[in-house]
Amino acid sequence: MPPSTTELPSVSELLTAAVSAVGGTERPGQVAMAEAVAKAIRTGDHLAVQAGTGTGKSLAYLVPALRHAVEREATVVVSTATIALQRQLVDRDLPRLEKALEKPLGRKPTFAILKGRRNYLCLNKLDSGMQDEPDDAALFDPFAISALGREITRLREWVSDTETGDRDELVPGVTEHAWRQVSVSSRECLGVNRCPIGTDCFAEKARAEAGRADLIITNHALLAIDALQGFQVLPEHDLVIVDEAHDLVDRVTSAATAELTSAAVAAAARRAGRVCDQELADRLLEAGDGFTLILEDLPAGRLDALPTPLAGALAVIRDAAYACLSGLGPDQRTGDVDVATARKLAQSQLDEVHDTAVRLLRAFETDEAHKRDVVWRTGDTGSGPPRPPALRAAPLAVAALLRERLFGQHTTILTSATLTLGGTFDSMARSWGLPAEQEGASAKTEGAATDKSIEGPKWTGLDVGSPFDHARSGILYVARHLPPPGRDGLPPSYLDELVELMEAAGGRTLGLFSSMRAAKQATEALRKRTDLPILCQGEDSTALLVRKFAEDPATCLFGTLSLWQGVDVPGPSLQLVVVDRIPFPRPDDPLASARQRAVEARGGNGFLSVAATHAALLLAQGTGRLLRSTQDRGVVAILDPRLATARYGGFLRASLPGYWATSDAEVVRAALRRLDAAS
Ligand code: SF4
Repeated sequence: MPPSTTELPSVSELLTAAVSAVGGTERPGQVAMAEAVAKAIRTGDHLAVQAGTGTGKSLAYLVPALRHAVEREATVVVSTATIALQRQLVDRDLPRLEKALEKPLGRKPTFAILKGRRNYLCLNKLDSGMQDEPDDAALFDPFAISALGREITRLREWVSDTETGDRDELVPGVTEHAWRQVSVSSRECLGVNRCPIGTDCFAEKARAEAGRADLIITNHALLAIDALQGFQVLPEHDLVIVDEAHDLVDRVTSAATAELTSAAVAAAARRAGRVCDQELADRLLEAGDGFTLILEDLPAGRLDALPTPLAGALAVIRDAAYACLSGLGPDQRTGDVDVATARKLAQSQLDEVHDTAVRLLRAFETDEAHKRDVVWRTGDTGSGPPRPPALRAAPLAVAALLRERLFGQHTTILTSATLTLGGTFDSMARSWGLPAEQEGASAKTEGAATDKSIEGPKWTGLDVGSPFDHARSGILYVARHLPPPGRDGLPPSYLDELVELMEAAGGRTLGLFSSMRAAKQATEALRKRTDLPILCQGEDSTALLVRKFAEDPATCLFGTLSLWQGVDVPGPSLQLVVVDRIPFPRPDDPLASARQRAVEARGGNGFLSVAATHAALLLAQGTGRLLRSTQDRGVVAILDPRLATARYGGFLRASLPGYWATSDAEVVRAALRRLDAAS
């Protein structure tokens, strides 16, 4: 029996027990955060907490969350953006908390991990042999077919070993194509009552376990799908904690983005051919061929108007997919599982093609001010193998969705090391659908909560600061004397500056570039000018490159986006972070440019709301790579002089940790030399 409410220790007592069990020390920011989380749970107001690296924020929300779950016999959902954090919670923090809190809570708190159905192997699909037929290109590539065959054989062997069927536990992993052959979306699933293997189904077992747990760990994508779908994906819960909340809007946008490709139309047509009139399937296949020709002729980029030939091709796909769906006839609920599986797979792919064609057409039916979706034709990303073109539709904003389906339904705690931009929570709050801070209450308030009860869901913002003394431990150097960055790659003066800084630091450099092209250019040029070893993202797996970088202080690592957010290297191997330019979205980024225009159409400042906010978030994340422990010291060097000279520079600087700032290159090089000598 759980203890009665009055017998449960307070959150601060539980936190003390938890911290001593994990062998740490209590930190003021952690205590303040745990108390704020407990208060939010009590009052039902939403809470945004900025907690710097080293605060111990996961314990600060897990402890009050578990107390609440045990006290109320309720379920709490914790959502993360990255697998790394998910693993840290599941493999390290929660097992320790289970033990530490068992006695004070009167029973062992329980937790489970839940992901989207696509992440679990579907035994029915594997057994029924309903794998996709190879497309025409693959048919003529025997190597591709045999490689796929080997991967599927490996998956068949893995089935007898795995207890969870969770893709993330398959090491090494398999290609996306292979995984798709053995997994289903929730639309494609037969349903547990109809599926012959329903009782052994991995996805169903995970869901059942999650339904019994006090705390469910999931990801932002599933949280988004739960909000987007008409039916419940996550078990009943009354509290949501969103960690890595700075990434919530991007992840929800991705989950709400639809894509139409020629391959998807052809695959749906092939599936349809197995279960309905071949003539109908051929009609869809032809519609897909017409779409291919038009898509190949279309330049990459945002579409503000729908070209007539494309409108025609989409309408033909929509009608042909609808005809196939009608041709499936009513679901007879036959006892033949293979027939039912084939029908369900065809129906779901046809639904997807049909619904996406309808959505793409509708996106152009409203005027600019009421547009909900932005549509673009994808282009070559410049990294990785070339991908065939696709037409995509993404929501211009997800604020209304989050306000209604997340904040409107559950008390929500949002946390991250980076939630205040330009010194306030305003930008983040608006993107989540929460009202901005009240006029005059927007100063950054370390350790002090500010109540924001203006229109919209009630929420509180709290910055618990950081255990690091940024002004004493780090220097922010802006190379004010350099020319502004141009379009034609890195100017020679940037490379001169970079090599001088790296040599002064004795290596130990993380180079964060705004594009892969710039990272490669710098790598090639500097390898000729210095003996310091330089690793470049893409030359091996990022995890391995980061490990090599961490192991050898002389080694430098150059790269782009994933390094801005994913490198955690405490100690003397990282004493210099160099940023080549302010990471504004590219002017041809379809989503960012459309969002910017939408803000301007409403009379707002599109550049500040979208481009500068995007850059501020990335800069805060990137420059936060420098200090990862209280002993760390070093320099963040921004080569782009606009940080010091442009009007928006103040907003960007106010988003960064409070390092001591200078534009004097000699002072910085001398500091780096001293650090190198002392390390
Ligand atoms: S219930 Fe759905 S996911 Fe599970 S095995 Fe059956 S078809 Fe696959």
